[in-house]
Amino acid sequence: MLEFLRLRLRQGTPTSPFPGREPGFPERFRGLPVVEPAPGAPPFDVGACLFAPEEGGEQAAGTVRFSQDFRMAASTRDALRAATGRVELAGALDEKMRRLFGRSLRLRSVVAGSCGGCEAELNAMSNVVFDMARFGIQFVASPRHADGIVITGVVNRNMREALRATYEATPGPRIVIAVGACAIAGGPFAGSPEIAEPLGIPIDLYVPGCPPHPLTVLDGLLRLLGRLPEDRVRAAP
Ligand code: SF4
Repeated sequence: MLEFLRLRLRQGTPTSPFPGREPGFPERFRGLPVVEPAPGAPPFDVGACLFAPEEGGEQAAGTVRFSQDFRMAASTRDALRAATGRVELAGALDEKMRRLFGRSLRLRSVVAGSCGGCEAELNAMSNVVFDMARFGIQFVASPRHADGIVITGVVNRNMREALRATYEATPGPRIVIAVGACAIAGGPFAGSPEIAEPLGIPIDLYVPGCPPHPLTVLDGLLRLLGRLPEDRVRAAP
């Protein structure tokens, strides 16, 4: 027992300092794209970006480099499209929704045709490093016990009905979060005939990435809930 306590003291606190302090990332981390737009080029779509090395450098939209900024969750699809790649970050829900979910948010995950990468990062949000439970956010097993759903994957034809049923089984008012390039724009599978017709579910939060970093998801959720410290709300890229 004494040995165990010594070990814990040596290990210290592994939980990320976010949101109180800026988290650090390894050099190879590819965060929010920053674009020097080419004349007349269409806006850069961060929602469709796969954050692959080959998407950096000279592109049709201009010269793209990946910053170390992990913040890029947005409230609307359009907010993810800008000439410079900079995203209009998500705003908070209205007061009534924040009163309902601000201190306790239960989410049901719907894996709607994914490679598994996004779910691995969502799982990591419950570990001791990211520890989303410290903000009262948890995944639950049933939509009946959930305040909202988190969609990962492209929504293929086989999962369309399951997604619709899960959405309808979640009591209102509910929130819907699209996580990853697949859920937002089809990701690497864009254009596949297996992708289902859109369900037309209203989305409250779009979290780009392939897959998104756990802190990108957490930052988006805390923005939505109005839970970020004032000096973090408008942090610039
Ligand atoms: S966005 Fe990327 S990591 Fe997530 S499900 Fe699609 S391919 Fe996998």
